[in-house]
Amino acid sequence: MTKIFKLAMHWWADRPLRIKGLIVIAVPIMVLLGTLVSGYLMGVQAKRAQENVQRTIQIQRDIQEVHTLLAEAATGVRGYLLTGYENFLRPYQISETELPKTLQRLREQIRDRQQTELLNALSALAVKKRDGLVELINIGSASPPEKLTQALVMNKKVLDDLRVHIDTMLVREEQLRQQSVRQANKVYDLTMIVTASAAIAGVLGALLTSLLFSTGIVRRVHQLTDNAGRLEHGKTLTPLAAANDELGQLSHRMVRTSHLLAARTEEVQKARQEAERANQSKTEFLSRTSHELRTPLNAILGFAQLLQLDIHAKDAQQSLDHILKGGHHLLALIDEVLDIARIETGHLQLSLEPVEANGLLREALLLIAPLAHVRNIVLTGSEKTSDIYLLADRKRLLQVILNLLSNAVKYNKENGTVTLSVHATATQVQLLVVDSGIGIATDMQKRLFTPFDRLGAEHKPVEGNGLGLVVSMQLAQAMGGGIGMSSLEGQGSQFWVNLPIAQAALPEEGCRQVITELATLHRPCSILYIEDHSSNLVLIEILLARSKHVQLFSAKNGVEGLHMAQQLRPDLILLDLQLPDMSGEEVLQEVRASASLKDIPVVILSADALATTIHRLKAGGANDYLTKPLDVALFFSTLNRLLP
Ligand code: ADP
Repeated sequence: MTKIFKLAMHWWADRPLRIKGLIVIAVPIMVLLGTLVSGYLMGVQAKRAQENVQRTIQIQRDIQEVHTLLAEAATGVRGYLLTGYENFLRPYQISETELPKTLQRLREQIRDRQQTELLNALSALAVKKRDGLVELINIGSASPPEKLTQALVMNKKVLDDLRVHIDTMLVREEQLRQQSVRQANKVYDLTMIVTASAAIAGVLGALLTSLLFSTGIVRRVHQLTDNAGRLEHGKTLTPLAAANDELGQLSHRMVRTSHLLAARTEEVQKARQEAERANQSKTEFLSRTSHELRTPLNAILGFAQLLQLDIHAKDAQQSLDHILKGGHHLLALIDEVLDIARIETGHLQLSLEPVEANGLLREALLLIAPLAHVRNIVLTGSEKTSDIYLLADRKRLLQVILNLLSNAVKYNKENGTVTLSVHATATQVQLLVVDSGIGIATDMQKRLFTPFDRLGAEHKPVEGNGLGLVVSMQLAQAMGGGIGMSSLEGQGSQFWVNLPIAQAALPEEGCRQVITELATLHRPCSILYIEDHSSNLVLIEILLARSKHVQLFSAKNGVEGLHMAQQLRPDLILLDLQLPDMSGEEVLQEVRASASLKDIPVVILSADALATTIHRLKAGGANDYLTKPLDVALFFSTLNRLLP
């Protein structure tokens, strides 16, 4: 049984939706039609049975009527014979007209063969009886009594025969009536059964079709909708019962799509993880490299700034300016290495401000002069007669100009020339670098601005990595401008940077002005510097020695630093991040966790300039974060702000 049910369900599941729909609609309609037809037939049957019953009752009445008519006629005739009054002949006269009609009706109504035969006999007897009565009337009361008596006896005999026939007919008719009643009852019962069956079949049919509709279509459509939702959220699909109709095929395709999607998501995730890993190691590499370069630079720039404070001779000041500018440029280059990563990840931060073009031009020429000198290149600048400002990030723009200038020098000829000039229109400023160098062949020019493509320069003794122009272009674009070029092979090249023109800048706060604030730091206070690098320590010692009221203590590792902090309770802690025994970050955590130390301001001094590190340390409780090489002015302004 269950096997048959399963087969039926399987058959149903495989039917196309068109067939399913037809079945679902057709079954109730068929049931309804069947009910109507059977109801109609039963009605016809019941009517017929009812008519039969009515007919037999009518026949019984008519048979009685025949008897009554004849009996009353006979009685009337007898009365007439006794009295001679003609009034007694009235029943006889009625029977004369009514009897043929009644007999005719009986003939029409009777269908039973036996009754028909009896009716024929009855009709004959009735005629005989009537003839007898006619004879009695004709004889009249005046006839001799013997003749009258004989005629009366004859009549009586015919009437008795008639009675016997009538009784037989009545008995038979009663049988027929009962048969008809039974038949009518049977039809009635059958009608009830058929009606009940049709109602049950209707209910069952409706239930069945609802069930089929629900399981075959509605439930599966809901499951498909659920699965579509799951697919949208990348979840695994709930398997649907196997079926070969349109819904089954749709489900099958959705499952296939989900597998494809899952495979692709996995691939994408893997690729993303790999990219993240690669990016992470690149960032770490860049962070480490910049850290290593920043540490010695810290000493160079720090001591140069100190010398600048102490030595006032003009020549020496100029030399120190060169050292500081070169050092700062180097520092900027290190930052640019980090910038490459930022540009690629779209995290480059620019501070756009009005930059004075002539000043920038002079600074760029000054910075590139040593390189030009080595290559015997004549470097000239063509400034604008009036001050002109462009909107840019000054450091980034200098980086771009220096890159173009260094290319103009590097790819030049012996004793060649390089000119840097400023041009302006109503909306933009152009910085133009023109060289009389080797130039770039026309077919090579389309390869410019392609990472690591040095256009064959890699085979020449000219240093480079093929990234300068790419970074320059990206920086210029990020600042809202662009780079263009033209070149003739063997005659030289022109590279230009276009940037939006700007209004005059706000007056700059000079470094020296800030540094003189050093003198104001004269409140008695103690500072603990936790640092393992002696050159960094010496620099801070010298810087702070200028203020008589500051007492500097130092610790060479984290544990010693924490111990001294507990003993001394300094007014401020300067903290390096890379310590031999523990990280500066852990020292900071312990300071912030200690009830006695938690309120002491902590300033991080680190060569790690990654924005994420700075953000993390500040979030972890550092009051400020100064990067090495130390900006002396910033250092003192920070101390002034944090010391009590
Ligand atoms: P790099 O100079 O480090 O190789 P760049 O991206 O700055 O990388 O330049 C890419 C290439 O374009 C150079 O290797 C050089 O072949 C060519 N190039 C750039 N500037 C000039 C120029 N002024 N004259 C001739 N060739 C140049």
